[in-house]
Amino acid sequence: MSFTSEMNTSGLYVHVPFCQKKCAYCDFYSITCTSLIPDWLSALENEASLYRGRFGVFDTLYLGGGTPSLLDLHQITALIEGLRRHFSFSPDTEVTLEANPDDVIPEKIKLYQGLGINRLSVGVQSFIDRELAFLGRRHSARQTLQALEAFRKAGVANLSLDLIYGLPGQGLTGWRKTLEQALAFQPEHLSCYQMTYEASTPLGRKKALGEVAAATEEEERDFFLFTSRFLEGRGYLHYEISNFARLGEANNQPNDPLLDNKESFKRIAKSEKRKPYYSRHNRKYWRHVPYLGLGPGAHSFQNGNRWWNVRSVQAYCQALAQGRTPVEDREILSPEQLRLEALYLGLRTREGVSVEFLSRTPGWEKTLRKLQKAGLIEVSQDRAVPTRQGFLLADSLPLRFMDAGLEEDTGCPRGNVFASGPRPLAPEPFLPAPDLSTHSWQEDNGQDT
Ligand code: SF4
Repeated sequence: MSFTSEMNTSGLYVHVPFCQKKCAYCDFYSITCTSLIPDWLSALENEASLYRGRFGVFDTLYLGGGTPSLLDLHQITALIEGLRRHFSFSPDTEVTLEANPDDVIPEKIKLYQGLGINRLSVGVQSFIDRELAFLGRRHSARQTLQALEAFRKAGVANLSLDLIYGLPGQGLTGWRKTLEQALAFQPEHLSCYQMTYEASTPLGRKKALGEVAAATEEEERDFFLFTSRFLEGRGYLHYEISNFARLGEANNQPNDPLLDNKESFKRIAKSEKRKPYYSRHNRKYWRHVPYLGLGPGAHSFQNGNRWWNVRSVQAYCQALAQGRTPVEDREILSPEQLRLEALYLGLRTREGVSVEFLSRTPGWEKTLRKLQKAGLIEVSQDRAVPTRQGFLLADSLPLRFMDAGLEEDTGCPRGNVFASGPRPLAPEPFLPAPDLSTHSWQEDNGQDT
């Protein structure tokens, strides 16, 4: 499948809202009452029937949660077969299943492969038992190692690992150990998330009581930069703030415009074009490609419309059992809202946004020049792409352009643009111009300190 059709073909997400036990940091919607799985499965099939023919062919299926690997052999088979009854999938569909290391048994791996699941996203989080206990994970580091070995032995060729940094007492040394252990399995993809303390979680409450020493902003910044440099130095492309893709086999897909257009990517791929193992599904979210979300709390997007389901499993099942839609609410995005979202999403990726797109914002040239001078954005082949330092401030970069537009429209400066917006990691509005020999994407790949 070419890059262009990949970016136009819809994706399908299924939310599996069950977990055996809630982790201490998690605020995703899931419940531990697994006796509701049969009701949820039949509701899901009813919901799928409502969307038959409305999204065309899908080329991604993402089974997320919750814990999809919790489903037993019969349940996962019924789920996939039900989806295939209602929807068409392209022959090379990327089918991802989120798995917890302690759910893995050889029979399941074999079944996954038989059902066409060709990508496993494994919730590793850490290879250090003390950190896993802090997070309230139900698996040990040893179980994770055994699961990853079993996946590779069974021939699973596309593995993505989720990891968390910024844990109390972890330090860069501990984090590096976890990264090195992960790299021993040569995962095709890594998602590295900064530890966050959501107020509604047990760890969030502990932090509020002062019982947990969260990383400082400076430490968060150090973790982020270390991770980016370390993984890029080992052949991974830092293609979105939290996501890294290993370069694929030589010449496996030569038409990826990301590789063709970016100077910084050319350096990595100059001798041969090797398509990185991106998450095809997640890139659809970042590119406003249509997607359908099924299950409690799932979101969907098509033609500028966004809608989402009720979160409660009971309410979801009840609505569908009574022949009602489980949609809780919807919004129609105006062209301006879509444009701002595209700016926000684009500047969180290494793909960036086109200069032509930026030029639709009044005052854009001055802002772009400032951001280039500050080393936060680089322009290459008519695309404005955040630098590594720019990624650190990605949530605030779109505000710079919006702010410039407002100033241009009204003639008035806007004051504190960050007052109600996302909080940047670094407090100052512009970082000092960096030394390009140590900070540019081209030059600092591979430095791991
Ligand atoms: S982190 Fe994953 S396994 Fe843990 S409670 Fe959240 S969804 Fe469930």
